[in-house]
Amino acid sequence: MSPPWHAGVLTIFPEMFPGPLGLSLAGKALAEKRWTLDVIDIRNFATDKHRSVDDTPAGGGAGMVMRADIAAAAIDAARAEMPDGTPTLYLSPRGRTLTQERARALAQGPGVILLCGRFEGVDQRVLDARNVEEISIGDYVLSGGELAAQVLIDACVRLIPGVAGNESSLAEESFASGLLEYPHYTRPREWEGRAIPEVLLSGDHKEIAKWRREQAEALTRERRPDLWERYKKP
Ligand code: SAM
Repeated sequence: MSPPWHAGVLTIFPEMFPGPLGLSLAGKALAEKRWTLDVIDIRNFATDKHRSVDDTPAGGGAGMVMRADIAAAAIDAARAEMPDGTPTLYLSPRGRTLTQERARALAQGPGVILLCGRFEGVDQRVLDARNVEEISIGDYVLSGGELAAQVLIDACVRLIPGVAGNESSLAEESFASGLLEYPHYTRPREWEGRAIPEVLLSGDHKEIAKWRREQAEALTRERRPDLWERYKKP
């Protein structure tokens, strides 16, 4: 059996983990050792008695920058524990945005090493010297990379075979085929004067699948013209 998918997280706030990843689907999978989590405190690699990891920005300006030497030592320690080829990603608003496709690709690999930034970010030299890819979770700025790392891990872990209870739901969900998902309904049959669409109660699976596809296409066209354009291309 291949070793479980592994997340190595480098942070100055190790107490933020597993956090929400210890609950629900990801938490159950963690308890079952379908994936493993190793949280490394970057401060363990500090060299002064105050355990400081940052310094003032070269060139001046506001804030502090995480030091290259300390971040590199943390990355090297994490890499020593992981198979060759495990990607090292720095959570960063400047990175390419995480997509479902990327999460799927990462979930199929051995795991990830995630560097969580704080302050103004990390000294550029460590990203260059250690070939670290920047990855963003969206066009907004968080105060640290930890929540972003949790988002990335959650997106990957639910795609590890055996983690999601119903694997077929993964095939139909948003982004799986380039579309947003169709709307869902459940009992009661009528609520506040709103009825469940008749076709969903018909028992005609072909018609239901057709209706769902039409709904997914209409929603995608309306809400995400960017996805729709890509979907339409042969
Ligand atoms: N000065 C940086 C900039 O303008 O790009 C922002 C630094 S932010 C205050 C501190 C840390 O939060 C970053 O180093 C990064 O690790 C994390 N972070 C913030 N926004 C993020 C996002 N959208 N995706 C991933 N990580 C993010």
